[in-house]
Amino acid sequence: MSLTEPTSTDMNDSEKHRVEQRDVDFISVVIPFYNETEQIRMTLETTERVLRSLDISYEIVAIDDGSLDMTWEELTKYSTKSSSVRALRLSRNFGKEAAICAGLAEARGDAVILMDGDLQHPPRYIPEMIALWREGYEVVEGVKSSRGKESRFSRFAANMFYGTFARLSGIRLKDASDFKLLDRKVVDYWNTFTERETFFRALSSWMGFKRITFPFEVDERKVGGSKWGFLKLAKLSVNAVIGFSSRPLMLISSMGVIFLVVFFVLAIQTLVRYFGGKAATGFTTVILLQLLIGSIVMISLGLLGLYVASLFREVKGRPRYFIAETTDRLDDPKPEHDAGAET
Ligand code: UDP
Ligand code: MG
Repeated sequence: MSLTEPTSTDMNDSEKHRVEQRDVDFISVVIPFYNETEQIRMTLETTERVLRSLDISYEIVAIDDGSLDMTWEELTKYSTKSSSVRALRLSRNFGKEAAICAGLAEARGDAVILMDGDLQHPPRYIPEMIALWREGYEVVEGVKSSRGKESRFSRFAANMFYGTFARLSGIRLKDASDFKLLDRKVVDYWNTFTERETFFRALSSWMGFKRITFPFEVDERKVGGSKWGFLKLAKLSVNAVIGFSSRPLMLISSMGVIFLVVFFVLAIQTLVRYFGGKAATGFTTVILLQLLIGSIVMISLGLLGLYVASLFREVKGRPRYFIAETTDRLDDPKPEHDAGAET
């Protein structure tokens, strides 16, 4: 399985033939799954029903993001019934961002639709997305017109994050989602990205191209709960800010300047009092200042550390994910020497 950008030279003959033969649009739908055993069949069936009603040929690229339950078994079972479903299993849980990258690298459609595996991105919008793409739009973005059922805390956290992110990076993401259609051209460019820590929602907006948004209603999750823990979301948020903005570093410098100004004011006041014989007694001020400056220096160091760590991770250039298994029937055959590698 190659992780490199799929090019026409990578295609085998039957695949080339298939591509040349088709006179209808070929659409890929990429869906990441993480511990979604109960959900998979319903998601795939609903999606296929919508796709079949359209005048297109299609494939569904399902990514099992290292699930711990029966997700992979369910996927393989389903893919034996439906030849349009190709499934990949990542070697462990690499997170939705990595799963998206794996899906985009594997998808071969003229347009690629990305959606959640829990039907919260309702497949009934797919015809509209394809229609917009046919009108010539290269990126079709779903914007949440209602955020569905969500706790007050998660709405508050989302608003906080989007507000901060917009201020720091200049990219407005409020109500944005990962429910998107990308033209082949955009996907090919996406696959040339070498960065490890992607943030699909923002990167695809940063890429530009002819884009349009459409409003969609987030459906309720039928089975199970959100697969995002608080820590996972916090990590994604920090990575997103660090990946898109160096303003926090500027903030540290501005803080230093503010402290310098305060220093001058206090220095003059202290000296005047000293020479006037009224030097401040007690350590209260000193202790408070020490604590304040100490904590700000430590926070700043930590922030700097986050950038250094991110730099380190990117420089190492480890693969984003490993593919442990695949159910591909349509994919390149395995090279001969691989089969005998163990003997
Ligand atoms: N997901 C994934 N890997 C993860 C977490 C989630 O592939 O580590 C998938 C999950 O199976 C679902 C989609 O990403 O298909 C969105 O996840 P979820 O519904 O939990 O997110 P929410 O709707 O709460 O934003
Ligand atoms: Mg969901």
